[in-house]
Order: sequence, then C-alpha cells, then structure tokens
Amino acid sequence: CGVFGVWGVPDAAAMTALGLHALQHRGQEAAGIVSYDGETFHQHKGLGLVGEVFDDSRVMATLPGHSAIGHNRYATTGGTHIRNVQPLYADYAFGGMAVAHNGNLTNAGTLRKALVQRGCIFQSATDSEVFVHLIAISLYGTVVERLIDAAKQVKGAYSLVGLTPDNALIGLRDPLGVRPLVLGRLPDYDRDQKNGGWILASETCALDIIGAEYVRDVEPGEMVVINEEGLRSIRPFGTKSQNFCVFEYIYFARPDSILEGEPVYEARKRIGCELARESGVEADVVVPVPDSGVPSAIGYAAESGIPFELGIIRNHYVGRTFIEPTDQIRNLGVKMKHSANRAVLQGKRVILVDDSIVRGTTSRKIVDMVRAAGATEVHMRITSPPTKHPCFYGIDTPEESKLLAATHTLEQMREAIGVDSLAFVSRDGLYRALGDVDAREAGNRYCDACFSGKYPIELVDQEGQLVQ
Ligand code: 5GP
Ligand code: SF4
Ligand code: MG
Repeated sequence: CGVFGVWGVPDAAAMTALGLHALQHRGQEAAGIVSYDGETFHQHKGLGLVGEVFDDSRVMATLPGHSAIGHNRYATTGGTHIRNVQPLYADYAFGGMAVAHNGNLTNAGTLRKALVQRGCIFQSATDSEVFVHLIAISLYGTVVERLIDAAKQVKGAYSLVGLTPDNALIGLRDPLGVRPLVLGRLPDYDRDQKNGGWILASETCALDIIGAEYVRDVEPGEMVVINEEGLRSIRPFGTKSQNFCVFEYIYFARPDSILEGEPVYEARKRIGCELARESGVEADVVVPVPDSGVPSAIGYAAESGIPFELGIIRNHYVGRTFIEPTDQIRNLGVKMKHSANRAVLQGKRVILVDDSIVRGTTSRKIVDMVRAAGATEVHMRITSPPTKHPCFYGIDTPEESKLLAATHTLEQMREAIGVDSLAFVSRDGLYRALGDVDAREAGNRYCDACFSGKYPIELVDQEGQLVQ
C-alpha cells in the first residue's frame, strides 16, 4: 500500500490526491482521503485507481481543510470491498481520528479474536482495524499515548499515518522499520500557517510530485507528531536494529525514489551488474521485462557489453497483473500487458531480465511470446534470489505451495519456464549491489525472509494456525 499525509497547507486533500497518484504503483485496488478542517473530518473513498476515485473537482470540494491523509490499497488481508478501503475513520469519546496503514500485522487475527470477545464490533476485514479498536479501549488519556499503547500490542510491519482531533498529523513506523516512510516539507507554506507544510509519504517520489523537499526518513520505531508547536519525535520502543524490506529495492518501490538514502534506480542497476558478473552468458541482446526489469537490464547490458534492447513492449494502460485478485484475471492480464517486439527478437539469442519469479505463470507466458517472435535462445536472469517463502509483512505473495521456487529445483524451474538457462542473483551479489560487502551482516539489517526464510518478526497468527 501507499500512505500519504500533509499538515498545514491549503488544499490539503488535493495535495494528498497528487501524492497518492505518485504512489499508485504501491496499490491499485482502492484509494481514499480523509481531511480535517479543525472541526470536522471529511472523507471520500472508492474502489479503483486514484484518478478514478478522485475524478471530479466536486469530490475534492467535499474535502476541505489544512490537513489530510490518504491511502492506496493493495490487498494483503481482506478482499476487494469498499469496507476495507482506508484511511479508517472512527468517532471516539475523545473525538474523531483517521489512520492509514501500509504493512501487515502478524498478530492481527489473534488480537481480533480477543477484541471481539471483549465486545468490539469490526467493520472491515483488514488487519489494520485492530489499531482502531486498540486505540478505543486504551486506558491512556491522550491520543498519542493511546496510539503508542496500541502499537505496543501489535506485531508486524506498519508504516502508519494518522490525523487526530487536536489537529496533529502523526507518522509511526514499526520498531524494525520494515516498510518505508519519509518526512518532507514544502518550502513555501510556513507563512500560511504556523509550522505548516509538513508531508509524510511512503516514498520520496510522492514528495517530488508536489515540490516538497526530502527532510529524512522516519526512523524505525519512531513516532512523529506534527502540530502547531512543531515536530515532536517520540521513541516508544527504544532503539532496535532495522530490518528494511529488501524487496522494496528489488521490485516494489518506484525507481526514482530514494529509500533509506539509497536511490532505487542505482541499486537496481548495480544488481543487474552483479547478475552479469555472476551468471554471464553469450547472447545478442539484453531485454528487460518491463517495467520492473528495466534498470537492472541496463546494468546487466553495461556490465556484459551486450546491447540493451526493448524486446518487450508494455501497455501502460493496464495495472500490475499480480494485483488482480484471481488467477483467471491474472492470466488474462499478462496478455494485455506485454507484447513481443519482433524487430528486436527475430533470430536473436536473448537474455531476459526480470525482478522475480513467484508462481512462474507470467514468466512462462513471456518466454513463449519471445520464442514465438523468433528468438533462437532465451536465457532468464532474475534480480532476486529465488522466492521460496511467503511474505507476511505487506507484500502479496501466495502461499508457499504456489511459489515455484519452493517446490522446484533450479533445473525444474528452468524447464517449467521453458528457457535455455536460468539464474538468480545470489544473496551475496544482492547485498554487494546494495553496498554491503558482508551479506551475513547485511542480512541483519534487511528483511529478506521471502528468500531466506528468516522472519525477523514473530508470525503469531501463523503459529496459532499450526497449533489448531
Ligand atoms: P511469475 O512468473 O511468477 O508469474 O511472475 C513474475 C513477475 O510478475 C515478476 O515480474 C513479478 O514482479 C511479478 N509478480 C507476479 N506475481 C506476483 C506476486 O504474487 N507477488 C509479487 N510480489 N510479484 C509478482
Ligand atoms: Fe520484503 Fe520479502 Fe521481507 Fe516481505 S518477506 S518484507 S517482501 S523482504
Ligand atoms: Mg515484473
């Protein structure tokens, strides 16, 4: 998912819509904005792309206020239903409050059962709603204290933005900082309102679109509270080491974003270089599977000296195929999304560069298409280690039995995808590309559980299922 928040600017909702637009790649199922005018909260949410949900100036006119938060939904828990669309808004005894959450809680099921037993009535099927109820039943006095109380009970990954009735914008990142969250500022807005112009966003590309300056990342376990008195930083969890999601670098984030001080585009190019060094092969062209394979294919081509060509053309009017909810629709989606460029592929030995193999269905289709366009050899190079384990922290990977790499050897995978050779970047190569010489040490600073099976945060609900 993508989250965005703004404090102390006129047209806060319109700015949030722009921010969500830049974060569209993080979730395409639904979008929502909650604004606050100092007295009343206003909300608009809907299924679809940001441009579809906020397609009308009349809609924007219903969202007045100098602060707002927004959310792009990419379902990891709960189905495609309007009830599950965020931000979640609730009326409390202390006033209204809205929260928007990116990530996935690993004890949401367990907490939910306990909360329902205590009489809480859940409105949605998302894991994020446990925050709403934990805030409601907290015995602490202030909103900030209640949110901290809630955060101390949840486990998992969360980058959260919230709007409170005393007109504060809150940003909160889980203690391990698995999902990104950055702080930015609009240079010219301070005059309009005391301390105005603050932005919170999942990625820096959302700051660029509105001309905000990148201030810094919200740190793992840090809570920032922005109000008329300024920005206050609270560390409810003390300091712990970070486990940032390495897959954000490989695939999820937009290439023009800077994550934890590292430009994503450069990181992807370097992963491509490593891959060329580790598993070079004689060929005529290096072809990315667009869009996610493009920067790394540029790196691969540069390192190998084999020309980079656009042998697959992407139709930009179709969303990311894997975000569609059913296998059937996903299967239809890929044909709509990619076309082979015969002029490049005919009679050529082709190196295909892609970010990951999950189920293997997309890859198989692309390989068939490339062969049908006349390629004489197809070599697949993947910029992640084999995806052998599901993600429980906010990336939608299927259960283990559906992961090709979990059930197949490398040779079986090569055969299933129908390529002449197949290679994945090594874990060492991946971390070298991210600037870490020692992969073992780097493994302590990132989450790479979908490759290594080493989950840095307890999978409470999962364990509960095993016990039953
Ligand atoms: P596959 O060959 O596994 O069907 O699809 C691989 C391609 O689709 C990669 O480019 C990858 O980015 C994307 N992809 C397909 N399904 C998923 C999924 O469930 N989760 C993620 N993270 N990526 C997927
Ligand atoms: Fe990222 Fe994989 Fe960890 Fe999920 S399991 S947070 S995708 S590295
Ligand atoms: Mg892809």
